[in-house]
Amino acid sequence: MAKIAEPVLRNDYQRSIAAYWNAERDPVNIRLGEVDGLYHHHYGIGGYDASVLGDDQAMIAEMHRLETAQAEVLLDHLGDIRPGNSLMDAGSGRGGTSFMANLRFGCEVDGVSISEQQVGFANEQARQRGVSDKVRFHFRNMLDTGFETGAKRAIWTNETTMYVDLQQLYAEFARLIPIGGRYVCITGCYNDVTGGRSRAVSQIDQHYICNIHPRSAYFKALADNGFVPINVVDLTAATIPYWELRAQSSVATGIEDPFLTAYKEGSFHYLLIAADRI
Ligand code: SAH
Repeated sequence: MAKIAEPVLRNDYQRSIAAYWNAERDPVNIRLGEVDGLYHHHYGIGGYDASVLGDDQAMIAEMHRLETAQAEVLLDHLGDIRPGNSLMDAGSGRGGTSFMANLRFGCEVDGVSISEQQVGFANEQARQRGVSDKVRFHFRNMLDTGFETGAKRAIWTNETTMYVDLQQLYAEFARLIPIGGRYVCITGCYNDVTGGRSRAVSQIDQHYICNIHPRSAYFKALADNGFVPINVVDLTAATIPYWELRAQSSVATGIEDPFLTAYKEGSFHYLLIAADRI
């Protein structure tokens, strides 16, 4: 294995993100994860069953179902993955999407996160699931992972790109993914057509200490680093029901209104991009 650049956290900004995730115990993440042991820190897609309204535990389970459905759609876009392939989950959180990928493809998955707390939690999950030999989590920076050049058949980012510079990120992914490999991204991005960062988008940035990028920045940075999109899916309409359900739930965090405003006014999209490395 190539040498990991030290330190993992390069600057005060990254240290503040790590501190946020190390301290994070939000019921919207923990209670949903407890439903079946898959812990997600991303949003859901698809319509919800209105019969759950008013039943707290049923609403939690329904939100979790929509978050798992989001990760299934991401994995659907990874292409032809074989058990012998190795994948990377860039910004892996508590590991939910990594475990789903291993279950589906039977392959190795390396997750990287700058939160040591998350890495410890996810490795313990791997141990409990009996997959520690295949699914491993590392305290590493996705901008400089230390994995061997060409080692990853596919990489995904599930709601993590708003924390980093896209040019630096895709330069590292271009190093890790060989020609013909795949990159899949699900992210929120702001709309170049409606103009700059709207008030609602700024509120989301402030809530998560992130820097939401414009839609255009993704396609420029991908093209600059040898990635050619094969699928672009606007998931905005599909994620609105999740936010409407969450806004009525006991685990609402207060950020639901800015998301609903931003999506409905058109200043923000929920986007999936699948791109091939050429
Ligand atoms: N993809 C996961 C978690 C999303 S939350 C999921 O879908 O559940 C955002 C994640 O990005 C956190 O795990 C955080 O630690 C990680 N992250 C942010 N900046 C990072 C960086 N520079 N390198 C690695 N991980 C990073």
